[in-house]
Amino acid sequence: MFNAKMMRLGEERSAIRELFEYGNRRKREIGEENVFDFSIGNPSVPAPACVGEEIGRLLAEVPPETLHGYTSAAGLYEARRAVADYLREKFGAPMSPDLIYMTCGAAASLAVVLGAALQRGDEVIVIAPFFPEYRVFIEAAGGVCVPVPAGERFHLDLGAIGRAVTERTRAIIVNSPNNPTGAVYGREEIAALSRLLEEKSRGKDPILLIADEPYRELVYGREVPFIPNFYGDTVVCYSFSKSLSLAGERIGYIAVSPRCSGAEDLFSAVCGAGRGFGFVCAPALFQRVVMRCLGQSSDVEEYRKNRDLLFGALTEYGYACSEPEGAFYLFVKSPEPDAKAFSERAKKYELLLVPSDSFGTEGYVRVSYCVPKKTIERSLPAFGRLMEEYRR
Ligand code: PLP
Repeated sequence: MFNAKMMRLGEERSAIRELFEYGNRRKREIGEENVFDFSIGNPSVPAPACVGEEIGRLLAEVPPETLHGYTSAAGLYEARRAVADYLREKFGAPMSPDLIYMTCGAAASLAVVLGAALQRGDEVIVIAPFFPEYRVFIEAAGGVCVPVPAGERFHLDLGAIGRAVTERTRAIIVNSPNNPTGAVYGREEIAALSRLLEEKSRGKDPILLIADEPYRELVYGREVPFIPNFYGDTVVCYSFSKSLSLAGERIGYIAVSPRCSGAEDLFSAVCGAGRGFGFVCAPALFQRVVMRCLGQSSDVEEYRKNRDLLFGALTEYGYACSEPEGAFYLFVKSPEPDAKAFSERAKKYELLLVPSDSFGTEGYVRVSYCVPKKTIERSLPAFGRLMEEYRR
């Protein structure tokens, strides 16, 4: 009677959400301070001052009927222009306001771009482990999700990517800084990927590179290359959820590179997909806020302190993990092959760690360290005792 595909999606349990809900129940039972909830990627560092200041100024100065009214479907032109100017100045890329679409965070950006680009049966390469919603967005757009395992230290395995390309490959999603591994792809890596995609696109429609960038500013001394400067057929899906700690406000943008072949047609398709999915006129107040906060970010040093504390302690206890270069996740090898069993065992110590299976890779857990530092400090003895159980 109803759409079976959507019913299945609605009923399916997300491992992250399930653990998060379990954590909330447990906190009610034994007290918040006794649960070490590393399940979800909700920023723990407050938004930078510019966010509050700008909200205050807008509320005081702009009449409510303007402030809270509809904007154009693609967003306020001045917000789109501010984004394009910022990207041009910061990265020297020829971005245009006419190819920027304001959206509700990276999730909407990805769903819209995939809806715009895919025809039924088109394949989209994702690098495993990957953000689990990629599969949902790809399949909802009629595509086929093609996971390709990451290589050493979770960086790109170009050989594997090359072997995965077929006649049906329409796009690849690249997420750097990466959720869940913390990997940040360097210039040479992006340049090599670009050469590979150019070679594989020869004589057919170019493979679209979808750069999913909610963690762009959250890096620990690394450069995050701006991919449109390397590969022409790139669309950036950006979000302010993590950089400005505005996850609940649902604001971001799609930037189609003017170097995309058929850029204007692609942008028309983006507008069409936005319309078809109802992702029009992104939150108006926050379009105005973010256009004044471009280039700012929450205090990354807080996340760096958390990373150093957690990575240092866990490796000392004998856990295997590589040091995150960006984002706020640690991807830890499970001491037993079954990561779900490990995650269950961790619950005995009130440690909530997401098993990696839904990220398309087995045998790891994701630890979201966007939590107050004291939560990490208090959790360390539990991590130690958990490892001792495996040593015995
Ligand atoms: N892409 C990645 C890699 C993410 O980690 C997330 C959220 O955690 C998203 C997209 C969705 O972000 P948003 O909250 O902006 O929709």
